[in-house]
Amino acid sequence: MRQDTDVIVVGAGPGGSVTAAAMAKQGLRVLMLDRAEFPRDKVCGDAVAGKCLDLLTELGVGNFDSPDYYKIDCFTVIGPSGRSLRYDFSKSAEPRTPSAIVPRLIFDNDLFQFAMRNGVNFCKASVNGLIIENGQVVGVKARSGKQEMEFRASLVIGADGASSVVARDLNARQPREDRWAVALRAYIKTDVPLDRNIDFAFLDKIQPGYAWFFPISEYEANIGVGMRSDFYKKQNYSLEEALAYYMTTPEVKRLIGSHKPENVRSWSLPIYTPDLKRVFNGALLIGDAGAFITPLAGAGINTAIVTGLCAAQAAQRAFRLGDFSERGLRIYNALWRKEIGANMRRELWLHNVLSVVPQLIDSFLAASRSVPALVPTVLGKL
Ligand SMILES: Cc1cc2nc3c(=O)[nH]c(=O)nc-3n(C[C@H](O)[C@H](O)[C@H](O)COP(=O)(O)OP(=O)(O)OC[C@H]3O[C@@H](n4cnc5c(N)ncnc54)[C@H](O)[C@@H]3O)c2cc1C
Repeated sequence: MRQDTDVIVVGAGPGGSVTAAAMAKQGLRVLMLDRAEFPRDKVCGDAVAGKCLDLLTELGVGNFDSPDYYKIDCFTVIGPSGRSLRYDFSKSAEPRTPSAIVPRLIFDNDLFQFAMRNGVNFCKASVNGLIIENGQVVGVKARSGKQEMEFRASLVIGADGASSVVARDLNARQPREDRWAVALRAYIKTDVPLDRNIDFAFLDKIQPGYAWFFPISEYEANIGVGMRSDFYKKQNYSLEEALAYYMTTPEVKRLIGSHKPENVRSWSLPIYTPDLKRVFNGALLIGDAGAFITPLAGAGINTAIVTGLCAAQAAQRAFRLGDFSERGLRIYNALWRKEIGANMRRELWLHNVLSVVPQLIDSFLAASRSVPALVPTVLGKL
């Protein structure tokens, strides 16, 4: 079976759905493919930054007032020595929309439905390769059940996440081990009502990396642990063991009592690398497919959406000029660099320093007690 369209978006995660909706709004015929049926779970900490909710509200996705979006008032950072610091967002000089913890089962479906409302065509199919003719990407090959399919378009957007087939076929997979992280997530019930606080615990045993405890409701939390892959491979414990260790720390133990973690799953994270190739003849890579995970926090929802919107802008220009060559699409690099380049560079630098000397987190927490303005300056922007 063969079908033609203007643009193919591979992957209907946050990056894919928002990009597809933006391009459909421009009047393009957009076909979005995903191997999963929605709603579907995605391994994640489920934390969506307030600035991301602002952007989605501006785009018309919704107003996020539903209790499924569990709003956060403050965060606590725990250093390797056990020293901790709590930061209340209401103390921030600029008023800001609170971040929310929302299961990806719900969040991704809200964005998927937004794409559907905006006229994006969807097909549940697993993409297994690109169609490349004379060095130009002209479509994708996919499979749905036993049916083999081909879809052709002027432009293909790779939004298929960390295991991207589009990036693989373009030889654009993140090659360096130290630019990958692995993380494990679970859900857990609690005995006591939870504050609207999120914990980032930089435990001595899990360096460089951190464990987290993010409430999704009054009596349930998303709990997890993540580490950079190259360091993780040298450890003699598994992520499951690291999570079990975190669950024995007094503060977590007090909350969870004897509850057991449920729905435990792990996945990998491609950490941002400045010089990775993301623009090709007839194709662009966004979100995790383009390795846009923030190096310090390990977050990628906001950057998937922002890079997706940059790709939609580059697509609009390419259709206006009728130029889908790498040269014609190169503006994408300038657009995403303008939006997130400086932040990514700052986080990458901090991540590299803290990977070598994690004790600096304790020094930072100690210094912040004397100079409270340090916290909003350094952490408040994450
Ligand atoms: C344990 C963990 C915790 C995290 N916590 C956070 C957090 O709290 N906050 C945050 O901002 N980020 C977090 N991240 C990162 C975040 O999950 C990703 O950065 C984000 O999901 C990227 O969005 P995306 O749209 O690029 O890709 P994805 O969300 O991965 O979506 C990709 C889509 O492509 C589809 N797909 C994949 N391959 C194919 C194929 N061959 N054919 C068809 N479809 C395909 C998948 O089904 C999926 O729907 C975490 C990641 C992990 C692993």
